[in-house]
Amino acid sequence: MKGVRVRFAPSPTGALHIGGVRTALYNFLLARQQGGTMILRIEDTDQNRFVPGAENYILESLKWAGIEIDEGVGKGGPHAPYRQSERKPIYQKYAKQLIDTGHAYYAFDTEEELEAMRERLKNQHSSEQQYGSGTRLQMKNSLTLTAEEVNKKIADSKPYVIRLKVPANEEIQLTDLIRGEVIVNSSQMDDKVLMKSDGMPTYHLANVVDDYLMKISHVIRGEEWLPSAPLHVLLYRFLGWEKEMPRFAHLPLLLKADGNGKLSKRDADKAGFPIFPLNWTDPRTNEFSKGFRESGYLPEALLNFLAFLGWNPGTEQEIFSMAQLITSFSLERIAKHGARFDIQKAQWFNQQYLKAKPGADLSKYLLPSLAHEKINCPPEKIIKICEALRERVSFPQDFWEQGKIFFFAPVSFDPQLVSKKWNADVVKFLSQFINHLEELNLIEGNGVKQTIEKTAQTSGIASEKIMQPLRLALTGGASGPDLMMIIEILGKEETIKRIKYAVATLPV
Ligand code: GLU
Repeated sequence: MKGVRVRFAPSPTGALHIGGVRTALYNFLLARQQGGTMILRIEDTDQNRFVPGAENYILESLKWAGIEIDEGVGKGGPHAPYRQSERKPIYQKYAKQLIDTGHAYYAFDTEEELEAMRERLKNQHSSEQQYGSGTRLQMKNSLTLTAEEVNKKIADSKPYVIRLKVPANEEIQLTDLIRGEVIVNSSQMDDKVLMKSDGMPTYHLANVVDDYLMKISHVIRGEEWLPSAPLHVLLYRFLGWEKEMPRFAHLPLLLKADGNGKLSKRDADKAGFPIFPLNWTDPRTNEFSKGFRESGYLPEALLNFLAFLGWNPGTEQEIFSMAQLITSFSLERIAKHGARFDIQKAQWFNQQYLKAKPGADLSKYLLPSLAHEKINCPPEKIIKICEALRERVSFPQDFWEQGKIFFFAPVSFDPQLVSKKWNADVVKFLSQFINHLEELNLIEGNGVKQTIEKTAQTSGIASEKIMQPLRLALTGGASGPDLMMIIEILGKEETIKRIKYAVATLPV
């Protein structure tokens, strides 16, 4: 593919949905793979839906995710400005061109008049579009008014919109790289508004004009835009740009985990997982939503997960670095059917990425909590703790949650475990074990294990019976990292101290 230029074109109408991050990612992967250009265009022509802070949020989210922009908002480039609200005169020029070539017209109908037509069609059980080839000649527009009337209305600042004159009964055809051939009869399309009464273009006009002017080669976007694609084809044709029309790839929807319907923020909220990349407080409602970042997802794990929502490499391999994704990605391998969004799978990816990190890298997840608790701990010990925990954590914050036991002796003990497992035999064993430990010069895994076995033998108790009580005495609970590892990290003195405390405190 030559000269690949793709764009991510979000509207700043709120926080960026995780599906938007996937769209950005697929665009980015294709751009990087083909040595092309990734553009960020902000589609902010709908002033009613504009949300302050949303644009910044989008920029920050992409940055966090590691999706780099080559050209566009926040970056600049040869086709600036990249914010549509700053390109008004450009759209006005092309709207005018469409009027001059007979493909668009001024329409002056009021809300009431539009509503009256809607009612009339409904009463007649008509399949006609409310404003289209079958009805437009009954409406108030530059096709039905004289040139003088039109000019006067415009001169008198009467509100108007510009509408596309969609031809009657024509097959509009396009090839989508994912969906294949799409054919729509133009009679099913209405005369879409291209310019609104506030002088702003609608999404359709602005999108087509910008994709053309910014020399976009591939439009990769969510499936919800597929129904608009035939309209865009018409616009390319009427503007004389059909030869330069980009190729379309409409991405499958993100579905709920059970496959029943589209994934919504409500579903995510209900199930208690994030749907936005970063924390977000909606300025309109003050509603707060926790982000993937703040929930402890690593960006590389999240991207790996997102890459697989709708695409797969055709092999068993699941862990892909960004570099590997760039090499392996292909539009041809994107599925037509919706992709189930399974948060468990996202957690699994996170776990795999954490597990693969060297202990020294994992240390950074413990440091803030240690600093907060004013705990001084030698770096080698922190690394050891992280290594002991690495198989057991899904999120960075788990290192502290599960690692606390190394810094704080238990003050309470799992009561169920106490009543089930704590007894006179155990106490006898532990007292002997302490004695044997005292004799050991240096605690290290093997020595401890042998000491346990030796003590078990001499005290006549099966060694399986003392593992859980020993863990209980050291940590207060029933689960955690490897017991030998715990003893090794706690060290002789602390281990003995904790056992003594448990023996003195717990009822037999
Ligand atoms: N502004 C549209 C959106 O936010 C972009 C659709 C497109 O990529 O054409 O979904």
